[in-house]
Amino acid sequence: MGTASLTIDLPALVANWRALDAMTTCETGATVKANGYGLGAGKVARALAQAGARHFFVAVAEEGATIREALGPGPAIHVFSGHMRGDTDMIADLHLTPMLNSVEQLTRHLEALPGHPFGVQLDTGMNRLGLEPAEWNALREIILPQNPVMVMSHLACADTPDHPMNAQQLDAFRTMTDGINAPRSLAATGGILLGSEYHFDMCRPGVGLYGGAPFTDAAPVAYLDLPIIQVRDVAEGETVGYSNTWEAKRMSRVATVSAGYADGVIRAMGPNAKLRFGEALCPVAGRISMDLITVDITDLDEEPRALSLLDDKQTVETLAEAAGTIGYEILTSLGARYGRRYVTG
Ligand SMILES: *Cc1c(COP(=O)(O)O)cnc(C)c1O
Repeated sequence: MGTASLTIDLPALVANWRALDAMTTCETGATVKANGYGLGAGKVARALAQAGARHFFVAVAEEGATIREALGPGPAIHVFSGHMRGDTDMIADLHLTPMLNSVEQLTRHLEALPGHPFGVQLDTGMNRLGLEPAEWNALREIILPQNPVMVMSHLACADTPDHPMNAQQLDAFRTMTDGINAPRSLAATGGILLGSEYHFDMCRPGVGLYGGAPFTDAAPVAYLDLPIIQVRDVAEGETVGYSNTWEAKRMSRVATVSAGYADGVIRAMGPNAKLRFGEALCPVAGRISMDLITVDITDLDEEPRALSLLDDKQTVETLAEAAGTIGYEILTSLGARYGRRYVTG
């Protein structure tokens, strides 16, 4: 089979959720936006719900529909983008909870679905989503009597623990919400690791569940094996791949594996990325193509059938570093062409 295989370790995902949950005394939800960070939102949400997660977070209402289908009625599904024009039926029928971001959304929600649960998102300095402090101050006495299910904000620099922005946002959040009755939420993965002051009533980790930084103790969840289609000898002085960027410095063996930038193996990682066979690391030779990668396997004693790009030693963070990006982008870029296998226990 020429298709690469992506293995998703659901028990490892559940172990990561439990480990993050154990760091707090508050409720721990799960952020499953972007198709569960590329790993399959339905499967991911079901595994976490079985482990006890009762609150799920998505970016947009359509993603909420997928989660509702996977989970059935019961668990809460919170939508970060709030109540957008055209979302009303979905929010009502699938019982989604919009996190309202603006006066416009607040008006839309209270007019279209009076009595339907909602949360409020506040801007504490990131300037991305949520009511500004002045808007909140003007509206809180109207909003709070409607019993929002959550009042939340988001940290801009939580992956950098000593960044002064963290304390600044914490302070702003407290100033805006101390004394209210509604449950409060500030922390995603990074915020959980900052300590209990940041936890409030609900944490909503995403990337740490899937094995990404800043949760450095996370168990790896994604494994990617790329089948070798062909192996050839390349004489010293010959070149490999587009634009002749790799030249053999010795008599070499080059393997061509099935996967490329169209599968999320982003081209920029090329010169730094390695593929693994057992303990051996084999460097990429030349440019990453759309569907193929050429790999220098000269130093291997045998000819494998496949090489791995993600495993327990080379994680999404290793690849992110090779590509000059973050683990989030590696995960959410994982391709649609992979054969996906879920380990369930
Ligand atoms: C993506 C996101 C999360 C999850 O963040 P991680 O860093 O992946 O843990 C939580 N809250 C909001 C508002 C988000 O956009």
